[in-house]
Amino acid sequence: MKRKAAQDSRSNNDLSQKAAGLLQRVRVVLINTTHPGNIGAAARAMKVMGMHNLHMVTPMLFPHAEATALASGADDILQHATVHASLESALTGCGLVLGTSARLRSLAMPQLDARAAAQKAFAEAERHDVALLFGRERYGLTNDEMQRCHALVNIPADPGYSSLNLGQAVQILAYELRIAAIANAGYSLDALDWEPVDGNQMELFYVHLEQTLKDIRFLNPAQPRKLMMRLRRLFNRARPDQNEMNILRGILAATQTAREMRDSLPDEPADG
Ligand code: SAH
Repeated sequence: MKRKAAQDSRSNNDLSQKAAGLLQRVRVVLINTTHPGNIGAAARAMKVMGMHNLHMVTPMLFPHAEATALASGADDILQHATVHASLESALTGCGLVLGTSARLRSLAMPQLDARAAAQKAFAEAERHDVALLFGRERYGLTNDEMQRCHALVNIPADPGYSSLNLGQAVQILAYELRIAAIANAGYSLDALDWEPVDGNQMELFYVHLEQTLKDIRFLNPAQPRKLMMRLRRLFNRARPDQNEMNILRGILAATQTAREMRDSLPDEPADG
């Protein structure tokens, strides 16, 4: 009897230590949340599934009594949460960034349902930190924020009314992550046998790329947006590792130097 009880509780609840640790490498990032109650609800949703790593980017009201009230017993998650002034800062160290969205956009980027996303997140947590981004209550994630993501994640809801409350969306993703952790679904890493650079390095690269494309007049500053969006999609799909990033940055630097040298040549031979 005693043995059976122990087995039951294990199948109910216990994760291997390793799986529990991997869950901590998946961070929830709430962007610009309006209602502090939703922050508390998100903290509670995380804690019941064994996740503790909460980050916020410019929340409207935090800390706040409503957040603490809705967190119920999960106020420790709020106390340890990190508040960031920018998304870049919240993504530091993350090799995989997944953006949740109630609407699937026309942007041609990889899209996953919540279950597949959780399995991927858990699998990759063995290699690097993973971020799950959650948008604002009123209008979700901006296009710029989505372009920081490797894939968009959708909870397949009724198409006629597909927008969940923020805390409930966090709950579903956290639950799917726990299921993935219980199943240890994570250990097939598919094709990912390299370590991609993190989002900060990607952003520095995009700044450098954009500047270089302007310098060589490939990018017209009057019409800049679409080209960079397409290039972001390309490089986010490729997920370069450190060596590849060094090569790309080296090519950009050499291109700029070549351009400067050409510019510094006199237009016409001096003195005939
Ligand atoms: N009106 C917004 C929805 C905001 S809901 C919009 O149309 O985008 C707040 C956040 O909860 C969303 O940004 C997203 O992070 C999450 N969310 C809500 N419903 C979701 C769904 N069906 N699938 C994935 N994420 C969802």
